[in-house]
Amino acid sequence: TTPAAGTLGAELREAALAALRRIGADVPSVELVDPADGTSTRSTIPVVSPLAGEPLLTLPEAGAADVDAAITSAAEAFRTWRSVPGPVRGGVVRRLGELLTEHKADLAELVTIEAGKITSEALGEVQEMIDVCDYAVGLSRSLGGRTMPSERPGHRLMEQWHPLGVVGVVSAFNFPVAVWSWNTAVALVCGDTVVWKPSEKTPLSALASNALLRQALAEAGFPEAVSQVVLGAREAGEALVADRRVALLSATGSERMGQQVAPVVAGRGGRYLLELGGNNAAVVAPSADLDLAVRGIVFAAAGTAGQRCTSLRRLIVHSSVVDDLVGRLQAVYAGLPIGDPRADGTLVGPLTDGGARERMLAALDEARADGGTVVVGGEAVEVDGAPGAAYVSPALVRMPAQTDVVRRETFAPILYVLTYDTLEEAIALHNDVPQGLSSAIFTLDVREAETFLSEVGSDCGIVNVNIGTSGAEIGGAFGGEKSTGGGRESGSDSWKQYMRRATNTVNYSTELPLAQGVNFG
Ligand code: NAD
Repeated sequence: TTPAAGTLGAELREAALAALRRIGADVPSVELVDPADGTSTRSTIPVVSPLAGEPLLTLPEAGAADVDAAITSAAEAFRTWRSVPGPVRGGVVRRLGELLTEHKADLAELVTIEAGKITSEALGEVQEMIDVCDYAVGLSRSLGGRTMPSERPGHRLMEQWHPLGVVGVVSAFNFPVAVWSWNTAVALVCGDTVVWKPSEKTPLSALASNALLRQALAEAGFPEAVSQVVLGAREAGEALVADRRVALLSATGSERMGQQVAPVVAGRGGRYLLELGGNNAAVVAPSADLDLAVRGIVFAAAGTAGQRCTSLRRLIVHSSVVDDLVGRLQAVYAGLPIGDPRADGTLVGPLTDGGARERMLAALDEARADGGTVVVGGEAVEVDGAPGAAYVSPALVRMPAQTDVVRRETFAPILYVLTYDTLEEAIALHNDVPQGLSSAIFTLDVREAETFLSEVGSDCGIVNVNIGTSGAEIGGAFGGEKSTGGGRESGSDSWKQYMRRATNTVNYSTELPLAQGVNFG
């Protein structure tokens, strides 16, 4: 399945292998194991770049036995890693941040090749990894338990946070490396070991990230087994999800995946952290600064070709400004540079594959059947030299109502426009979807802004004022409510999910008073 010489596929293959070599990832281990030539009977996964739409190379796929072996190694490594002092674990994460800084461009290149992100966004994703390493290093000296007043004299009541165990990370194609780092940087300082099942669409980015962490571990004299990667599709993920030794399963992906994973982990008494689909909206109020709103909206809706969990998918606009806003957006959408994400000036790269483009076009047909009007975009786009790639023009669609298609997440650049007259109506429309990830309001009216942020406002995990729905910083807790899964990752107190809490009562008196005044003999 090696691409023909001189084609875009061949160029991307060489670029990917060169980036892996610079990073020091084990290139021979990612070379073809071909069942057809009799050298192996292993199943394989193809590495397909959305830029070319054809396989660049083929990798061996982890079977159930490989996943089992990875968990066994991680569980064994946990027995020593858990007792390494937190600040020393932080030192390994600091080194990972340095290595990511050194190889920022190399890793970003792999992200562009596998996920189709424009160079600036791919570099931004690696920067996010560096940022979360910084954050976790600080955390490694500040993971703190509380001491509470005991009701009994001569007693101390306190809590300690201990390492949890093996953390399983299942990640989606659209943030092929950042999601792993949010989980892993924090899990490592918490004393956990990690087994990662990346998206089957982005295995090279995963091998590269893991190689950098393993280098940081080896330099400090720790076992590489602290960090494991298993490559494969859903079956490899299922094996990880079902294994009782995985204390926390952190899964990022579609709502469908979360609905399959949650009962399995709950059934074996494990913990899960789910980061699932979003259907994010922005309210645009009459007082909004429309110049600023247009910039925020276009980045959130068309950036990453609409393939972020936080992508803006619904605009809820006051009827007094809707025509003005739609006119401005139409003009910007019509001029969006679509094409090879490596090229200077490109703002919209390809969708992940032809299936994603078909789902986008089908959603637009459904919207039209519901009475919607496609104002601009929504067409397949041919890019020179890449006939197999699935490029589209981002779509802006006026809808008469929030119909079923609007209430679903279509993972593509479609922005539905709805109108409202009162803020109550806007909030009701806003919250009337199954998902609850990210939200925004554009307004200069403090009453409207605070109402939207309050308990009667947006029901999402992320609620912004005068910025779009995407592009969160790592210092805050990231995640959403309802069918988005309820998990929180990255900053704030998200670390608590990666540790177990022990409540301790210490009696330093000579008496044995019982709590609640109980008298026993
Ligand atoms: P997906 O659900 O198809 O796959 C995600 C991962 O889950 C992959 O690694 C896949 O192999 C694995 N998987 C699928 N079914 C599984 C199962 N039954 N058991 C175990 N593993 C399984 O999602 P995708 O297409 O890669 O990514 C896009 C989706 O991810 C969108 O819905 C997007 O909103 C969501 N997402 C959410 C966040 C967030 O933080 N909330 C971040 C990124 C992406």
